[in-house]
Amino acid sequence: LFYLIDPVSRLVDAASQYQVGTAAIARIIEAERLETERVDPPAGPPKEAASGGASPAASVVFDDVTFRYRDGLPLVHHGVSFAVPGAGMTAFVGPSGAGKTTVFGLIERFYDATGGRVLIDGRDVRDWPLGELRAAIGYVEQDAPVLAGTLRENLVFAAPDATDERIRDVLVRTKLERLVEQLPDGLETLVGHRGSKLSGGERQRVAIARALLRGPRLLLLDEATSQLDAVNEMALRDVVAEVAREVTVLVVAHRLSTVTLADRIVVMDAGKVRAVGTHEELVRDDPLYGELAATQFLASAR
Ligand code: ADP
Ligand code: MG
Repeated sequence: LFYLIDPVSRLVDAASQYQVGTAAIARIIEAERLETERVDPPAGPPKEAASGGASPAASVVFDDVTFRYRDGLPLVHHGVSFAVPGAGMTAFVGPSGAGKTTVFGLIERFYDATGGRVLIDGRDVRDWPLGELRAAIGYVEQDAPVLAGTLRENLVFAAPDATDERIRDVLVRTKLERLVEQLPDGLETLVGHRGSKLSGGERQRVAIARALLRGPRLLLLDEATSQLDAVNEMALRDVVAEVAREVTVLVVAHRLSTVTLADRIVVMDAGKVRAVGTHEELVRDDPLYGELAATQFLASAR
């Protein structure tokens, strides 16, 4: 990768670290600005105290969250509440514009809630030192870019100290080891501008691998809406389920194959949570979910 040291490329670096597209860079710039303006609260008691030292999966609570992006704009969240215990997979579904991606922005603290609270491990995100909060979270944004450069560079971008062993472990977990074996130069293969040598499904798994290398306790995954072939769809589903055994996984889901595996599904509509349940419960009890399952999900599952 080609590093420059001017502020703009530093922001592009930051954008890559949070796996955002160029369209989202403005948001990153805003987040960086807030970062420098904020004074971190004093460090709390060590997190390990409660858990005996292991790296536990994080819990997430939204407590009556209201949110607008700016003064004068309408509310995007109208009292959103849900609770996710550590580990497992929680899927967020709902029509476009329902406020699903905004949930992730509030967890990452790209923005602060207008009202209510967002708690990670029972601690208000505003009381977390921002660096510590972001280190705990892996964020795979919709259409996460793969950058020009080698596959290895793409993987270790945000985890430069990752050992070969650690990389291999993450490649196995994301079902990419076969792909790497087949590439002409393995990890040193140039994957091309925006990863054009990789399929959409492979790109998303590379982005997940990149996030996992940082050792997050919470993985946020905004699934790409684009079609995946059956092999890549099953691979993605299996990878997410596997990761969710150790790490809390929140997925904005566009595929039936993802939601049917979720431990719980949060159905959002117009900035509210309208139902929470398993696929079977929601198909039975929630007409909007039934409609989504019959049209959107089934269409995406083909
Ligand atoms: P979803 O992911 O469910 O499709 P989003 O959370 O992306 O929905 O968006 C919810 C609402 O917030 C939409 O009306 C969207 O237009 C608006 N919105 C999203 N991002 C921004 C932003 N950066 N500034 C202003 N409005 C935004
Ligand atoms: Mg979205």
